Amino acid sequence: MSRWPRVIILIDADAFFAAVEMRDNPEYRGKPLIIGALPGTRGVVSTCSYEARKYGVRSAMPISQAYRLCPHGIYIRPNMRKYVEASNAMFAICEKYTPLVERVSVDEGYLDVTPGDGAQTAQRIKEEIREEVGIPVTAGVSYCKFLAKIAAEEAKPDGLGVIGPDEALRFLKDLPVVKIPGVGPKTARLLESQGIRTAGDLRSVPPGYLEASFGKYGTRLVELANGIDDSPVVPVHETKSISEETTLEEDESDREILYAILAELSQDVGYRLRNHGFRAKTIGIKVRYSDFSTVTRAKTLPYPVNSDAEIYTCAKGLFDGLSPSRPVRLLGVAASNLSTGDTRQPRLFSEEAKPWENVSKAVDNLRKKYGKNVVNLGAALSIAKDKPTEG
Ligand SMILES: [Mg+2]
Repeated sequence: MSRWPRVIILIDADAFFAAVEMRDNPEYRGKPLIIGALPGTRGVVSTCSYEARKYGVRSAMPISQAYRLCPHGIYIRPNMRKYVEASNAMFAICEKYTPLVERVSVDEGYLDVTPGDGAQTAQRIKEEIREEVGIPVTAGVSYCKFLAKIAAEEAKPDGLGVIGPDEALRFLKDLPVVKIPGVGPKTARLLESQGIRTAGDLRSVPPGYLEASFGKYGTRLVELANGIDDSPVVPVHETKSISEETTLEEDESDREILYAILAELSQDVGYRLRNHGFRAKTIGIKVRYSDFSTVTRAKTLPYPVNSDAEIYTCAKGLFDGLSPSRPVRLLGVAASNLSTGDTRQPRLFSEEAKPWENVSKAVDNLRKKYGKNVVNLGAALSIAKDKPTEG
């Protein structure tokens, strides 16, 4: 292993929410289970079981489309309290092996176990999570985060994939561009229209060529295609920001749907802030349009916040400030300028801030008791429409 510059493991639970629900509800096992918005509303699929994927159902797909593809599926709302519990148990196991654990989402995290034996450590972690948490996870092992991710993608579900430095370029040669993080189906189509189908093809484009259409992301794409990714594994206590983003299945222009997604993202960011005891003084949004142009906007507030409503109000204000409105393919919400403890200015702002804070605390308690979406900004904003009538 000494030739490996770093030893990185990605641990990624398989169909995580669905796996937790199947662990707790044997009657769901082997069935198409779709977790997210309910049919008849304008939300999206959060997670679905592998059985549902056979019908073409995917994460972030509008629930109405999922229902058309799989009308006989089981549709349930997420129970975030349960998933956060399983997630914490899963990461506690990872942290026994290294303090360098970076949670990138509720069910996915990178470990830096340099200079250890990546494959052996990953296998032990898989077994422990299976026994103690009761869910399957896939592990990817490589010398950088990008290839650990690719190794895991290739090994899913319930697998263990390893890509060493000597195999990287051979492996990347035939890797379809759509498998590169950040390349969605639409970017892939654009690249393919220029004859670029694989990471190998990306390596042979003239320098600067991709920057013209993709900006900085073009440079990053070429680095990744060459197996170069120096991004470090950053544990949460060194976190500088907390962000959530979602790539939409189809470009979306409906503002009500976009508001609902912004609200869900704001809630997830708020939940993670409060879970880690953080407040954020700066709230930002990221919007990628159908033409791949990406804009970010951020606003620094007079005092640090952590309530869903304050985050959403700020994110929505930033979004409304963008013009003109064009079809959107990715939305993100970020909280930065983080602090711990109560750093509000006691006199000036505490009175007006209190109600929001109390609402968030009440919502967290309800979530802990009944599941995440019992009180849901997104649901409050979503408009019941297209009531399912078939089947
Ligand atoms: Mg996963």
